[in-house]
Amino acid sequence: MVKQTIQIYARVKPLARRQQAGIYSVEEDEKSASSLEIIVPRDLADGFVNNKRESYKFKFQKIFDQEAKQDAVFESIAKPVAECALAGYNGTIFAYGQTGSGKTFTITGGAERYSDRGIIPRTLSYIFQQLEKDSSKVYTTHVSYLEIYNECGYDLLDPRHEASRLEDLPKVTIMEDPDQNIHLKNLSLQQATNEGDALNLLFLGDTNRMIAETPMNQASTRSHCIFTIHISSKEPGSATVRRSKLHLVDLAGSERVAKTGVGGQLLTEAKYINLSLHYLEQVIIALAEKNRSHIPYRNSMMTSVLRDSLGGNCMTTMIATLSLDKRNIDESISTCRFAQRVALIKNEAVLNEEIDSRLMIIQLKKVIQELKDELAMVTGEQRTEELTPEELLQLDELIKRFLEDPDPESMLDIGADMRKIKHCFSYIKQLINHTNIPDRSLLSPDIAGDNDTNTPEKKEELKKLRDLLHQRDNEINILVSMLKKEKKKAQDALFQLSAGSSGLAVSESSLSISLEEGRRPSACINVKDTQDFSSSVYRSAFLPRQTGLGEKMSLGRQEAFEIFKRDYVDTVTIEDNKQLLKQRFAEAKSLGEKINEVRNKINHLKGERTQRHMQRAALGVASPSEELHESDPVEETLRAQIEEEKKSYKTMFNRLKVLKIEIEHLQLLMEKAKVKLQKDFEVWWSEEALNLQDQQKKLPVSNSASALRASPQSLESQQHLYTNSFSGTNTSGVNPSEDPGRKNNLSRLSNSASAARTSQSSSSSIPLTGDSQTDADILAFMKARQNLMQKKGLGNK
Ligand code: ADP
Ligand code: MG
Repeated sequence: MVKQTIQIYARVKPLARRQQAGIYSVEEDEKSASSLEIIVPRDLADGFVNNKRESYKFKFQKIFDQEAKQDAVFESIAKPVAECALAGYNGTIFAYGQTGSGKTFTITGGAERYSDRGIIPRTLSYIFQQLEKDSSKVYTTHVSYLEIYNECGYDLLDPRHEASRLEDLPKVTIMEDPDQNIHLKNLSLQQATNEGDALNLLFLGDTNRMIAETPMNQASTRSHCIFTIHISSKEPGSATVRRSKLHLVDLAGSERVAKTGVGGQLLTEAKYINLSLHYLEQVIIALAEKNRSHIPYRNSMMTSVLRDSLGGNCMTTMIATLSLDKRNIDESISTCRFAQRVALIKNEAVLNEEIDSRLMIIQLKKVIQELKDELAMVTGEQRTEELTPEELLQLDELIKRFLEDPDPESMLDIGADMRKIKHCFSYIKQLINHTNIPDRSLLSPDIAGDNDTNTPEKKEELKKLRDLLHQRDNEINILVSMLKKEKKKAQDALFQLSAGSSGLAVSESSLSISLEEGRRPSACINVKDTQDFSSSVYRSAFLPRQTGLGEKMSLGRQEAFEIFKRDYVDTVTIEDNKQLLKQRFAEAKSLGEKINEVRNKINHLKGERTQRHMQRAALGVASPSEELHESDPVEETLRAQIEEEKKSYKTMFNRLKVLKIEIEHLQLLMEKAKVKLQKDFEVWWSEEALNLQDQQKKLPVSNSASALRASPQSLESQQHLYTNSFSGTNTSGVNPSEDPGRKNNLSRLSNSASAARTSQSSSSSIPLTGDSQTDADILAFMKARQNLMQKKGLGNK
């Protein structure tokens, strides 16, 4: 942007010799500024008190005195403006002065000599010379020629008309767009490709101007003529276009109405003959004032057309033409005063650049092609708009491999190809949104939640199974430690006991006592039933609430229980009672056998006695004698024997009754002891679990059983344990007839371990001992655990 005030120049028209009588003087300044002093001759102030000022000084950029030639004027005034126009800035040169002061001569030139040609032809000549010189840009030049007379515009370059009147020329009107830009409708823009074309157009316009002038309209003095050179330029291949306008303006005569001669009116302002010049002065005054928001450009067509030239985007120059003879001193002074005001106006010329979108598209396409070519050269492959099907397949394979790679450090390297990067993102998006994802829970827990697994029941189920799994893990860990102890114990025992079997097995299956004394005796004992004794009325007294029927103690805990039972402190008492009970059972059995014998003996004796009695009765019928009334010694003996046997029977029966009570009592004691044993086992079991948990917390190695707590679940299991222990034949619970020592848990475990030994079960965190037997046992438990998990549908954690 170029900020500068309007440049003002003065040109004094050559005068006849007789008029040159010291009216003015020109002072050329060193500092490129000149001043014009206008001196009012004394004779002009005739008859007045000599209190008027005698001289007036006006400063100009440069003053062209009478002998100044057209080329000099052009060089100083027009050439710099023409250069700016070529560079893309708007420019205006306007001549202001009274009629006959040389405005037309300066702007257009004299009609007689070539050397008198004015600013317009010289500028055209200069511009085309420059265009020819500058091959770096493509220039386009148009010219227009507008005459404004009485607020009407006329197109002086209309080629169709050989106008005889001004009114015959096309009328030009002013149009204003929403951005308040002025457009001149009907003003033709004639392209001038060279100086000759342009000059022809200039002469066409001048001819039209001349012809249209009549004595009636006095067009030459009362009209404004604006010759405009339109230049557009752009560098080859660039979408930026520069457009500039250079206005060369020949204004109407500035003379005033109230020209009453010298004297009192001399230096006072008079009205312009031409109203539009009055408005021009209003605009100039307004522009010179600070903080003036409204500039009255619209008051006249001339000021509207020249709006940009006055206080706008333009580099403007004014030439004040002066005809400094005695008669024109006042007008000259007015012209100079006007110029001084104009000099105050600041213009801001900007480079008129605009982007040609059409050119821009062409240019960008070219750039794209160039970049593509460059890319192809660098990568060695032609890149099309879309990826080929083969490339897409390859890419999908890469993504799959990347997604399946468990290594968190793995990278997906697809190079710096934006198309491929975009495809990867869309692939993964599809994957996430797609329903056929094998394990959606791996991608996001939120996405994984569908109706199947998200129901409260399922969640509850899952929680239970997890708890159970933790519990089992814990059991296994407890058992492993127990196993190690047991193993050691068993080894120690092996040295000491070679004949380990106590042979205490008692078969009571055949033991049955059925006393018959006419009817079934009340104190009848069916020894066979003693095994199910607890299932009778007695059991209920000791049983806790019977819930969860059918649930079995877990294998691990069952094994633990067996081992715990053996080491139990009260086991001795239980064993003593068990031995006692066995003795009592044996006693009862032999007693029952004896009673049976006695009963048979009595029955036999009774039969003998009856037989004897019948024999004697038959003998008495045959030979009734006195001897029949006599007692029979045989019968007496028999009766005595029967009595004896009956005594023995009673004694034995009473003994059996006592034995029964004792047996029942012993059984109750044992039930009690067993409940205590199980209770103690549960307490110990949860303590062990907590200890294990603490140990695992301290260890850095994670263990799946670490989450174990004495949960309601495990309490429930305790209840099942009680129930199972008393439920009789089909559990491994302690029975009065059973010797727990007989059960070799270790051997049983090792048997099952032999099968598991070959199978892989090392996924647990349980450490192996290095001892083959113990490890086998551990592996057996591992297998049991695995089976359990498979059954529950849980994976190995
Ligand atoms: P205006 O256009 O201001 O009314 P013109 O340019 O028509 O005045 O000039 C009036 C006359 O004076 C013309 O005949 C013109 O040739 C002559 N004239 C004006 N200025 C000069 C000059 N600097 N040198 C020679 N002749 C001039
Ligand atoms: Mg003129």
